[in-house]
Amino acid sequence: MKEKLTLMIPGPTPVPERVLKALGKHPIGHRSPEFQEIVKSTTNLLKWLHQTKGDVLTITGSGTAAMEAGIINTLSKGDKVICGENGKFGERWVKVAKAYGLNVTTVKAPWGDPLDPESFKRILNEEKDIRAVIITHSETSTGVINNLEEISRAVKSHQNTIMIADCVTSIGSSNVPMDKWGIDVIASGSQKGYMMPPGLSFVAMSQKAWEANERSNLPKFYLDLLSYKKAADKNSNPYTPGVNLYFALEETLKLMKEEGLDSIFKRHNKHMKATQEAMNSMGLTLFAKKGYGSPSITSVVANNNLNAEEIRKYIKNKFDILIAGGQDHLKGKIFRIGHLGFINDRDILTAVAAIEAAIEHMGASKKPLGTGVSTAVKILLEKD
Ligand SMILES: *Cc1c(COP(=O)(O)O)cnc(C)c1O
Repeated sequence: MKEKLTLMIPGPTPVPERVLKALGKHPIGHRSPEFQEIVKSTTNLLKWLHQTKGDVLTITGSGTAAMEAGIINTLSKGDKVICGENGKFGERWVKVAKAYGLNVTTVKAPWGDPLDPESFKRILNEEKDIRAVIITHSETSTGVINNLEEISRAVKSHQNTIMIADCVTSIGSSNVPMDKWGIDVIASGSQKGYMMPPGLSFVAMSQKAWEANERSNLPKFYLDLLSYKKAADKNSNPYTPGVNLYFALEETLKLMKEEGLDSIFKRHNKHMKATQEAMNSMGLTLFAKKGYGSPSITSVVANNNLNAEEIRKYIKNKFDILIAGGQDHLKGKIFRIGHLGFINDRDILTAVAAIEAAIEHMGASKKPLGTGVSTAVKILLEKD
């Protein structure tokens, strides 16, 4: 039943009916008072979501547009920056930074391991002219969550250095208190924890980021955040935004507010734990280092001579659940279960059951059928 396909990939994620209905309305003029009300309310709710008093600007574009905007609005050609690289999205930061002629030092960790905050601290203390530290919070390609809190804290004490973070798969699923942790620029995108279709992205800017903006000389036009800020201060946009996506954004942020940040984080944590433990109980190995699994994505090694792509295809064809495969050298070796955004306990149970069934079908079960599901059930029934 292809019509019933459930997305359990780390973006795009499932969209609640209320949000889908909002998308289906007639567009309205983007300079109308009605639309200005929507810009006003979404801007306030975005600040609530980012836990910031700073600015959160909405761009019509994918998450990468927000990443690029973060760089070109705060840095200048030849600026020294440190990029954390422990997966595909860390690599993307390096590519964007190099495309704009930044002087990049990379801090690497093997895929599956987290970045080591000490490496950043060491470079920051040795070289006084680092302009930015740039990392991915939840590294979607490996399912690892990096220690953004500690890295940000190290950056905070350096007056001329800003902290730029890709929080595309952590905003709306993990706690990212922007002001408290001292993050200066946060990039995110609508098709992940926001429970929306792709098309909008968001850049949050601290006061320190705006100070960096005054020095920045990189070329920019569509992604010039100063024009977005000037417009946002008047509840407007510099260019025609995705008007219907804004309708959806207002609806989804209201849904998030109704659930509450604490409940959202707890739900994601519980789903992470249920998924991780279920996989372990079935004799499968988790790809992310213990203690560094992302609350949004669980990556699993297809050990016991299994092929991750075959598991993925079987689950899609037999159960109409889409999970993600491994990227680059991990293709066929790992599969990734996305559990961010509009995901409930039932989705977790069916995904675990489908994986068990696939492995049983391949004659590779190491444990009695039902082991994974019973492990997941126990965790889902735990009191918060
Ligand atoms: C999805 C994702 C992005 C954004 O990708 P787009 O395709 O440009 O929306 C960036 N970083 C991470 C970690 C992601 O998961």
